[in-house]
Amino acid sequence: MAYEELQKYVDESSRIVFFGGAGVSTESGIPDFRSVDGLYHQKYDFPPEQILSHSFFVSRPEEFFKFYRDKMLPLDAKPNAAHLKLAEWEKQGKLIGVVTQNIDGLHQAAGSRLVYELHGSIHRNYCRKCGKFFPPEYIRDSADPVPCCPCGGRIKPDVVLYEEGLDNDVVSGAVNAISHADLMIVAGTSLTVYPAAGLVRYFRGRHIVLINRDQTPMDRQCDLVIHDKVGQVLGSLK
Ligand code: ZN
Repeated sequence: MAYEELQKYVDESSRIVFFGGAGVSTESGIPDFRSVDGLYHQKYDFPPEQILSHSFFVSRPEEFFKFYRDKMLPLDAKPNAAHLKLAEWEKQGKLIGVVTQNIDGLHQAAGSRLVYELHGSIHRNYCRKCGKFFPPEYIRDSADPVPCCPCGGRIKPDVVLYEEGLDNDVVSGAVNAISHADLMIVAGTSLTVYPAAGLVRYFRGRHIVLINRDQTPMDRQCDLVIHDKVGQVLGSLK
């Protein structure tokens, strides 16, 4: 019933915007950062929230990269049915943007091009001294505990750490897509955390749909709520 309603919204729409959180990638085997069995509950000397902060990256780079290599580089992960469906809609001209809180690059791997990565990407890494670009494999395979550029500069993943601000161009691109969309599908996020909650305000289209495994405080503000896995839902649509 709910799936049929969503299909109807999709059929009627010509400007879908998708806003996705961690739950979009869990079916690709990437753990949800904030879920009970996610990263926050695994054993490290420091809580992941602290390790993944800017000050920790600066002051304890060895520990940062140990954690980063262990937990943040799922380079074997493959796009799931959700990623593939969104890429298909973009090719059909029905989708005007994917706004994501994920850093795994799976939307691009599925073929999406209009992707706004609010928290950056593990696939971009830069030398902080000379700006040279490095692929994630360079960080993974570096013999040095702290991966360095040949120039001697330290390499930083282009990932938004705690204490760091979001990229203005990415945010304005996301706002632009959201404010021009006629259908907004929010998925795999609780919508309680910044910036998700704030960005939804820019939507002026007809329907907001929420697909999330668990209930969220946003449920009652949406036109349609589906408590299921994101890939399972989107993968069943045309
Ligand atoms: Zn360099």
